[in-house]
Amino acid sequence: MPYCIAITYPRIAMYIYRQAEGCPDNISLTLPLSGVQYRTGMNIHQENIFPYPDRRCRPRTGIILPVFYFLILILLVISAEECKAQQDTDFKTQRRRLVKLHIANEGISDQVVIRSMLSVPREEFVPERYRKQAYRNTPLPIGYGQTISQPYIVALMTELLKVDKNDTVLEIGTGSGYQAAVLAEIVQSVYTVEIIAPLGKSARARLERLGYDNVHVRIGDGYFGWKEAAPFDAIIVTAAADHIPPPLLAQLKKGGRMCIPVGQPYFPQVLKLVKKDADGNITVRDVLPVAFVPFTRKDNQTDKPE
Ligand code: SAH
Repeated sequence: MPYCIAITYPRIAMYIYRQAEGCPDNISLTLPLSGVQYRTGMNIHQENIFPYPDRRCRPRTGIILPVFYFLILILLVISAEECKAQQDTDFKTQRRRLVKLHIANEGISDQVVIRSMLSVPREEFVPERYRKQAYRNTPLPIGYGQTISQPYIVALMTELLKVDKNDTVLEIGTGSGYQAAVLAEIVQSVYTVEIIAPLGKSARARLERLGYDNVHVRIGDGYFGWKEAAPFDAIIVTAAADHIPPPLLAQLKKGGRMCIPVGQPYFPQVLKLVKKDADGNITVRDVLPVAFVPFTRKDNQTDKPE
């Protein structure tokens, strides 16, 4: 900033400097790049070491150039803002289209789920280079060999949980945080556990930035659930396990529901809906074949989260 002032108003810069230095008779200022030199004395004069004689003694202290630069700057800022607004509108349009074609038309009818899918900006949950593909109905890579789930599956699992605004939900497999955000639009609080620390940390920061302050992210092995916050009205597992982890069943409330893909990694897996009735009896129903990333375990298994 001081440099800009000095370039644009060398006389003013020198005046300020001169005042600050107790008004010495001679001070000089050489502008970097152009090499134009300004000196003060009894008479202010300038010397130009540049070989353009007509510029000598004619410092550009006029108002036109700064105003011109300022206008250019304003135009740049406005067009950047417009670009961003246009992009946001595009994403909104794409989101509506996705929800209509691949969610509502595919049988998801719970309006609460539809509204949530319309509100969460999926483009914010995918790496920069996949933003343009954010509204394809496909999983996308999020790093560390993991993926953000397909939007239809996110909507389906959310609908199967039959959650409402007073519920507390546990998610195992935070990943990008997208499924947690979709739930957070509906329920009171979401507790979500991620085993890969960098993913968990960036999801936590992202959810915070987007204002999802009812989501709590923990880094650790989700096999053990989140004892301190249990029991849960609903539990969702977004990685395929070879069995339903008993600690998760134990942390499910009576009358609660759990949605979990079960199967061997990379083999056909089945999305299961688990219900615990009022007496604590468990029933399991197969919903549809799915392909999730594997539910992994830490070598040093412990239920101590980070
Ligand atoms: N729900 C996520 C998708 C997650 S992909 C989203 O909306 O983006 C599955 C995630 O489960 C991966 O990030 C993987 O690291 C995590 N995961 C696998 N095993 C886990 C475990 N034992 N505990 C917690 N997270 C686990």
